[in-house]
Amino acid sequence: MVNKLDHIGIAVKDLEESVKFYEEVLGLKLQGIETVEEQKVKVAFLPLGDTELELLEATSPDSPIAKFIESKGQGVQHLAFRVDNIEKVLGEMKEKGIRLIDEKPRYGAGGAKIAFLHPKSTNGVLVELCERKE
Ligand code: ZN
Repeated sequence: MVNKLDHIGIAVKDLEESVKFYEEVLGLKLQGIETVEEQKVKVAFLPLGDTELELLEATSPDSPIAKFIESKGQGVQHLAFRVDNIEKVLGEMKEKGIRLIDEKPRYGAGGAKIAFLHPKSTNGVLVELCERKE
């Protein structure tokens, strides 16, 4: 049903500062930074092998990322799995009784179609489904 780990989403307070760690200490390369207005986040992408890291900084105090950091601190926020047909997968999840945060996909960074599953249905992990062209 899912093809691969598309990316790991990491909530950070300071994007530039965090990118430094991944570039200078771990040797990754920043691919780009994008602001996703709808989700009130600024996102930095760092490819790593067949997947990538997505660093997320809140652009507003009511951003989901700001709320996450407020309650849990900085750190891994979500896992994103790549799917071919997100509408179809969401339909199947619903049939299986999985609680969805997004009944319909919305657009995330890089023009990907994304939808989140509720952590109550996934043993505590915020799971993102993600459909995009390579
Ligand atoms: Zn993500």
